[in-house]
Amino acid sequence: MTTVIVTGGAGYIGSHAAKLLEKAGYNPVVYDDLSTGHEWAVKWGPLEIGSIGDSERLVGVMERYKPDAVFHFAAQCLVGESMQKPLSYYNKNVGETITLLQAMKQARCHKLIFSSSCATFGEPEVDLITEDTIQQPINPYGRSKLMIETILADAEKEFPLNSVILRYFNAAGGDPEAAIGEAHDPETHIIPIILQCALGTRDKVNIYGDDYLTPDGTCIRDYIHVTDLAEAHLLALKWLEAGKGSEHFNLGGGNGYSVYDVIEACRKITGHLIPTQICPRREGDPSKLIASVAKAKKSLCWSPKMSDISTIVADAWRWAQKSSA
Ligand code: UDP
Repeated sequence: MTTVIVTGGAGYIGSHAAKLLEKAGYNPVVYDDLSTGHEWAVKWGPLEIGSIGDSERLVGVMERYKPDAVFHFAAQCLVGESMQKPLSYYNKNVGETITLLQAMKQARCHKLIFSSSCATFGEPEVDLITEDTIQQPINPYGRSKLMIETILADAEKEFPLNSVILRYFNAAGGDPEAAIGEAHDPETHIIPIILQCALGTRDKVNIYGDDYLTPDGTCIRDYIHVTDLAEAHLLALKWLEAGKGSEHFNLGGGNGYSVYDVIEACRKITGHLIPTQICPRREGDPSKLIASVAKAKKSLCWSPKMSDISTIVADAWRWAQKSSA
């Protein structure tokens, strides 16, 4: 059975990928330091607790399991926080990923699926962001992910690494069976925050700016269902297994929703009022990010099946209710 190390596999997206890996007949091994991930989210494959910055531990785990590939999710991933703690972001996302690459080289593991981000694009003046759109990140989080994209290309000259870079737009929703879902502490993402209002554990949603140059003044994002995202990782792995070589893909639902659109969708699904308050802009937030997913559709034969906003919110709501019960 083919083994895949899933760094950050106790986290939100990583745990969904571990589920699909096992369902597809792979052997996922979750490698996570549980700093933001959860032991309860590791339901598919063993959990090896460790940091990607711990070279000795990583090499030991790789020697034991002899993985064919690594799915690398472990990262710090909050735009706002990265503005406050850039060094921590560069240390974790860049420095520790280099440690992971060195461990892969030592263990002769040559396939990597890397979690990059639409934040690498910054604030592009295009309607749809393609893989060729110029990457000019405007916050340390985006810069840290772009640095790794560059490092991966260079690392191929040092050992026979093949990588698929997946640039996520806004991962959202939850497992359709509600076995796992989004659980950050503190929560900063818009959909779980809105749902906390519906659950009564938060009194209002702060809208970070209504003076953007968008139709309703709030930021527009492209939300992608976490299961669609996880599915793309499997297809990316098959891509590498077929010997097709390193590539990069944008992954979104292909549609833009403003903060107001998302709040409205949540009102419909939950039946709750969801009080809001306009606040100043959040530093580092671009006004509009929407993916062109044509390349992933064509090359990976992938399509976002569950990424319409009502399915995303319905699955997130099911999970929010279950996890708060
Ligand atoms: N947002 C907001 N209020 C919140 C959280 C987020 O208005 O409490 C906005 C945020 O400014 C952004 C969008 O919702 O425009 C999505 O933010 P999120 O943090 O979910 O994801 P990001 O796009 O930062 O990765």
